[in-house]
Amino acid sequence: MAPDPKTPEAEDGSASNPPLLSVVVPCYDEEAVINLTHARLSGVLDGLSGVAWEILYVDDGSGDSTPDLLREFARVDSRVRVLALSRNFGHQTALTAGLTEATGDIVAVIDADLQDPPEIIAEMLARWRAGADVAYGRRIARAGETAFKRWTAAAFYRVLAFFSDAPIRIDSGDFQLMDRSVVDALAAMPERDRFVRGLVAWAGFRQEAVPYRRDPRAAGETKYPLRKMLRFAASGVLSFSLAPLRLATWLGFLVSGAAGAGIVYALALRLFGDSWVTGWTLLFISILFLGGIQLTMIGVVGEYVGRIYGEAKRRPLYLVKERIGFSPPAEAPRSREGNRGEAARRLRRGSES
Ligand code: UDP
Ligand code: MG
Repeated sequence: MAPDPKTPEAEDGSASNPPLLSVVVPCYDEEAVINLTHARLSGVLDGLSGVAWEILYVDDGSGDSTPDLLREFARVDSRVRVLALSRNFGHQTALTAGLTEATGDIVAVIDADLQDPPEIIAEMLARWRAGADVAYGRRIARAGETAFKRWTAAAFYRVLAFFSDAPIRIDSGDFQLMDRSVVDALAAMPERDRFVRGLVAWAGFRQEAVPYRRDPRAAGETKYPLRKMLRFAASGVLSFSLAPLRLATWLGFLVSGAAGAGIVYALALRLFGDSWVTGWTLLFISILFLGGIQLTMIGVVGEYVGRIYGEAKRRPLYLVKERIGFSPPAEAPRSREGNRGEAARRLRRGSES
């Protein structure tokens, strides 16, 4: 029997060269919980056999002491790396940054607030060893979240799955473990609208759900207020479905049908009745109705056009302010400095002429 390529011993017949597991943790203002998270997560990782590990914290422009705490973790433990973004870019972008920088043969993603129990990573790793390319957490229970959030989340995944053109994972977030091949596939997806769990599902390969109970946040507050949640949901629908655009077509058919009936009715009144001036109410309502539908559909089209605009600008997805614990990047800082100098020179030249 050919050795399973995913067993640690497979490559050279010894366990001396175990695969590297990178764990990406996006953090935004998590000073209340990050010490706890770090202790529990590194404890779990130490307990895993047959893998080497690293933790890659992505500081998403925190305004509190999170970056200092992360820096301290990296100082104490050389397996900890920190990527500090230049400002708050949002959860999905921070995740993307971490996935791009992670070097592991296996990459896991977990939130910083201990809502996803790190212990589940062991089960995910076991799935990977058994041949899965993606082992993702599926929430069978969500403790400590409001009924409103539970209900809207459940509804969201089902509506999205119904309309989506790509496979959608029900009740699953970004808590997952991926094989290097999937991480590379993600990196090769150029879009800026990063609905990471959707992109992973789209990638395919062998994906398995690992059921788990989602705990309440260990400390601190949610960084997803309703406004961000709505934007996140819109991003999920708009980047994986054309259903809202098709809705315009169907509404168009519907209203045209109603208009056809209206025309027959109006003509009949005009020809056979004597009170054809009545019907003002109907006229008034249909003008408002049509105006409403048209404006809404222009808005829907606008959402897509706006996204095309965003993609067309081709700005980098994020900027890195500081890298801690990364092996010295060969001449990268200098070349950046050089670019900056060059840009400044060009600007200066421009202003002189
Ligand atoms: N997060 C982030 N940038 C943001 C918002 C959130 O990196 O702009 C991180 C946050 O630190 C946490 C994860 O994303 O690790 C999930 O956020 P949160 O727990 O607040 O969301 P919820 O679980 O309430 O949906
Ligand atoms: Mg959370």
